[in-house]
Amino acid sequence: MKGKDILNEIISTSGGEFYTPIPDGYKLGKTKYVIVTGSVMSGIGKGTISSSLCKCLQDRGLKVEPTKLEAYLNVDAGTLNPFRHGEVFVLDDGYETDLDLGTYERMLDKNLTKDNFVTSGRIYQTLIEKERAGKYLGRDVQFIPHVTGEIKSIVRNLAIKSKADVVVIEIGGTVGDYENMFALEALRELQYEEGHENVCFVNVTYIMQPSSLGEQKSKAAQLGIKRLIGMGIQPDVIVCRSESPVRASIKDKISLNTNVPLNRVIGVHDVSNIYSLPLALREHEFGERVLETLELEKKFKTNGNTALKKWVKETSYFGKGKPLVIGIAGKYTGSSDTYISILKALEHCSFAIDRKLNFKWVETTEIEKGKSVESELKGLDGVIVPGGFGKRGIEGKIAVAKYCRENNIPYLGLCLGFQIALIDIARNVVGLKEANSTEFDPKAKDPVIDILPEQKKIHGLGGNMRLGGKDVEVKPRTIAAKIHNNAKKIRRRFRHRFECNPEYIERFEKAGVVFSGKAPGEQIMQILELPKHKFLMASQFHPEFTSRPLHADEMFLAFVKACEK
Ligand code: GLN
Repeated sequence: MKGKDILNEIISTSGGEFYTPIPDGYKLGKTKYVIVTGSVMSGIGKGTISSSLCKCLQDRGLKVEPTKLEAYLNVDAGTLNPFRHGEVFVLDDGYETDLDLGTYERMLDKNLTKDNFVTSGRIYQTLIEKERAGKYLGRDVQFIPHVTGEIKSIVRNLAIKSKADVVVIEIGGTVGDYENMFALEALRELQYEEGHENVCFVNVTYIMQPSSLGEQKSKAAQLGIKRLIGMGIQPDVIVCRSESPVRASIKDKISLNTNVPLNRVIGVHDVSNIYSLPLALREHEFGERVLETLELEKKFKTNGNTALKKWVKETSYFGKGKPLVIGIAGKYTGSSDTYISILKALEHCSFAIDRKLNFKWVETTEIEKGKSVESELKGLDGVIVPGGFGKRGIEGKIAVAKYCRENNIPYLGLCLGFQIALIDIARNVVGLKEANSTEFDPKAKDPVIDILPEQKKIHGLGGNMRLGGKDVEVKPRTIAAKIHNNAKKIRRRFRHRFECNPEYIERFEKAGVVFSGKAPGEQIMQILELPKHKFLMASQFHPEFTSRPLHADEMFLAFVKACEK
């Protein structure tokens, strides 16, 4: 039976044990699905492989819509600790996701929405709301068919809404986790209902190479994939991640043990530049193999578009001059994932100026404990103070801002870094010795940074900051205007609760601060600059979230160019 007959049978038996999550207007086969799962372990670049696959398919002219099903029970990623989980990435619509969505946006050069990131917590929330509203008509609500049904309806609705040729669904976690079991089951059902010609399963696995043996071993990968097969899912294509190129004998073993033809077992070893991955995958004909299973290879024949080659060329740098060294002064400096979008935005500048940038983490909690700022910032060409929350490390950051301002070192402040620059100027230029943010000292004598009026009414921590893409009015004839090509308005993404207290604006301006960006029609200050300084600029927004490989954010680029001088 083909997908169409199975689906018709299901629809005709609705009211029985089948729960039919088939949205109105759904046309079977109009949109096809690729489901990307992981085996052996997490952290092997499943998100990068999925987004590179999307890029390959996009390059062939397909309309591709990615989505990630995340296993954890948080309703969104907003409450996750960035040290444990990496940065919280904010979408234009204000939804807080994990860093993988940043990878997709940068790779596909496309703004994504809430539809492209679904956590288990959000699925349960929807189900419980429906149950409380009496939508299940007395039926007991179960994992199968209700949770699985919800997932199928989410992806089908995405297919309708996006009108995509292919929806690519990445499943968070690894095969064998309890948390994603029901997502895998839902997508197994999806393949059964839609037909194999409409749903392709890809598994990203890992080939180990223990140093004590010095050779590659495929057993863990075999077992992981067999577990998937045990759940009724036969992968169509396997991507073997590894440190060094995957040996032919390893691919043979994987193929034989998992019923996947050898030409569909693809080896992808570590690369230094992830932007070269789509091209590498294209050389392995990854896209072809996927399109073959979806019976789309005739419709989208072209392979070898020059756009992808150009993209890879422009996302490399050949390194003229010695690398610049940029300091990042934060408190989660143990893990680079915490500030991944900042590192990426700097990398985009690197492509633009064709010069390598190196980073140095400046741990501000250490400065608080007594380490000298001067020695910590020695040899740096510029310093970034990134976003952050909570009191720990704050005094260290203020000391860094002061040192950069007094010693003419380029300074870029991002969100919290904007507030930090103002606290330093208030204390050390305006002369308000006890100036602070009410986030760190609720009884501050001079609350130069205070909670946004709209935030005062809010209780709890989830999804309720001033969030997402908003317009910023740029003041003419300022540095901000110049670097943004005299644009009157720019749109950038926000994630904050506190702001520059409007009562202090005048005193700041008298001290030489130019507020070159503000919210249209409101007193919310969003960009500041010190025109006399070599480069001292900060924004209440996060320019790093909208920087793209071939279009570095303007503020980052201006900062890096100042560091070059
Ligand atoms: N903690 C500050 C605020 O809530 C800054 C937030 C941030 O840097 N994202 O306003």
